[in-house]
Amino acid sequence: MTETHPGGCLCGASRFQFEGAPKFAIQCFCRDCQHVSGSDHLPQLAVDRAMLTRTGPIERYEDTAESGSTLGFHFCADFGAPLFKTTSKAPELVFVYPGALDDPSVYEPGQNVFEASRQPWDS
Ligand SMILES: [Zn+2]
Ligand SMILES: [Zn+2]
Repeated sequence: MTETHPGGCLCGASRFQFEGAPKFAIQCFCRDCQHVSGSDHLPQLAVDRAMLTRTGPIERYEDTAESGSTLGFHFCADFGAPLFKTTSKAPELVFVYPGALDDPSVYEPGQNVFEASRQPWDS
């Protein structure tokens, strides 16, 4: 039996879901993730890109990471909420933001990455 994890934007226009268990989780403290989250870090679930389906006005903003990778920030065009991220470094994966899931409790914290830009006000 395959587990399905649906999610979407606050406004409801954009929806997505992935099948199966996440491969791993990270908490990223990089400056890009701070901009996207409006906070100190952004939790992410790495899932198989082939297992993710999507509907609605999901658009992508591309940026080049400090590492040189091309990052794709996917967000709802109606409201603007960030939904998931892709990176040229791991094109077979999608990094889903657990707060966008209908059941965010599936998230289990994994490794901290880019802690050099961690902020002193982070709890
Ligand atoms: Zn990041
Ligand atoms: Zn929306």
